[in-house]
Amino acid sequence: MQFFNYIRKWCQSQTSFYFVFVLLSIIPNLVLFFTEPLPFVLGLASVGIPLAIMLCVLVLAPKPGIVVWCLLPKVILDGGQLVLLYLFGESVIAVDMFLNLTSSNASEASELLSNIFVVISCVFLFYTLPTLLLAFRSVRLKEKLTVDFRKKWAKRGGMLLLVSAVLCSSFPLFDYSFSVKNDIYPANALYNLYFAINKSRKNANYKKTSADFSFKAVKSDRAEKQREVYVLVVGETGRAMEWGLYGYERETTPNLKKTANLVYLKDAVTQSNNTHKSVPIILSAASAENYEILYEQKSIVTAFKEAGFKTVVIANQKLTTSIIGCFYREADTFIDMSTFKTGSYLKSLHDDALLPYLEKELTKSDDNLFIVLHTYGSHFNYYERYPKDFSIFTPDKADGIRASLKKELRNSYDNTICYTDYVLSEIIKRLDKSNTCAVLAYLSDHGEDIFDDNRNRYLHASPIPTYYQLHIPYVYWFSEDYKTCFPQKFEQVKKHADVPVSTNSLFHTMLDIASIKTDVLDESYSLSSETFVIRDRMYLGDHDNPVPFWKIGLKKQDFIMLDKWNIAYEKE
Ligand SMILES: [Zn+2]
Repeated sequence: MQFFNYIRKWCQSQTSFYFVFVLLSIIPNLVLFFTEPLPFVLGLASVGIPLAIMLCVLVLAPKPGIVVWCLLPKVILDGGQLVLLYLFGESVIAVDMFLNLTSSNASEASELLSNIFVVISCVFLFYTLPTLLLAFRSVRLKEKLTVDFRKKWAKRGGMLLLVSAVLCSSFPLFDYSFSVKNDIYPANALYNLYFAINKSRKNANYKKTSADFSFKAVKSDRAEKQREVYVLVVGETGRAMEWGLYGYERETTPNLKKTANLVYLKDAVTQSNNTHKSVPIILSAASAENYEILYEQKSIVTAFKEAGFKTVVIANQKLTTSIIGCFYREADTFIDMSTFKTGSYLKSLHDDALLPYLEKELTKSDDNLFIVLHTYGSHFNYYERYPKDFSIFTPDKADGIRASLKKELRNSYDNTICYTDYVLSEIIKRLDKSNTCAVLAYLSDHGEDIFDDNRNRYLHASPIPTYYQLHIPYVYWFSEDYKTCFPQKFEQVKKHADVPVSTNSLFHTMLDIASIKTDVLDESYSLSSETFVIRDRMYLGDHDNPVPFWKIGLKKQDFIMLDKWNIAYEKE
């Protein structure tokens, strides 16, 4: 009885509320202290500074609950941060996460949201809601914090701030470039939000900022009396390690294995694990190394168009709200299949629905053609990506995304690869039949995690990628006529099959293969050029900065896989 009385008394005290609110407000910092790779002393400072600030801020009003309600956006942000920490086990809310909130389509969002709904509900029920209810209780109480108490704790907070600032200033000793905007939550999350807003503005202004741009592209060499057709297939969420062609124990690519004149790049990694950053690098001259030029230049579609090609884009993904959509609208013909009726706004078409449109475009005229086919590939929910005939590996129906369903998820994922193999071989068959000087390039925008190791990671676009999100399938196919007309280019691509390569090679290789000349083309990136240069491969950081991909925060498990698949990186 005495215990309950004590609890009751405690619950009616503003000082108790004060300390509870201080503790609740720094829970994300306490978790980040253990998950972020900061040197210990700087880690202490990264908790000390927000703790000091909260000690001071919560005494600004005589009832701490009033301050908590004024800080409602921070309470919500803290909840979001905890959800993210639960999902990825590390990292502050990244720029891409803010941007993805606005760029996912309905079916994509619903597929993912239904899976993280439980996590969001738990954080809301056990963190956000109790914080707000206690704040409400604090506001309703008649009692107030005494002036002495408020002064005392403001002073203590100030002293803690001073000590933490001294700890921060020691960063040169640890050879670590420490900054408030990168290393202290919530300043870093807010900076990321600011960066995301700025970036959305740049995306929105893209049409204006790139309006005057011209590649001044010309065709320097032509196939004699031959029509030329170049096809770029943009894949989605492909993992090279799950392609039979790359040595996977399951036969997931039987058709491509039989295809003649096919070159696959064994050591290809993406420059970003996020569709909205990776695909623009594939489609333009922008790389992780110079990402800002994205906003001033146009895409590969315009380069082909300027060189006299008829350009066609057929997309099976909703991309019209992003810069990718702007790129695709540069084409003479843009078929946006995501707008087609499928019976439900949550359902997408299977990728073979692209084939009749491709066939029609191939036979419509005798123009030289450049075609982009943007597939839905292996995007979650895997089971939805292929027709029943492709349920080759079973059981393949997973009713969610949980480690206990790994077998079903891997089976259905492998089925998406079998289906991609079929779709690609059908495209190649049509190009082969067209008797044109034709080349097809396929590469995936990024890979995926599917509960591969003890980290139990899943999906992609996490703030720090894994091996599984980086290693992508990347292939070129050449028609017999192309080989006859441009044998050197074919030989060069074949010669470069084993070189370390990134997604940023596609733009330059594709233009070079089509003998298009422009000052923007850098042959040192082109796999079809003898001047191709092997270089350190960069990854596009969260603030659009280039980082060598092996320094982005990969873990021991990732390096084991990089070595297993012979992916080149700088070993110390
Ligand atoms: Zn993607």
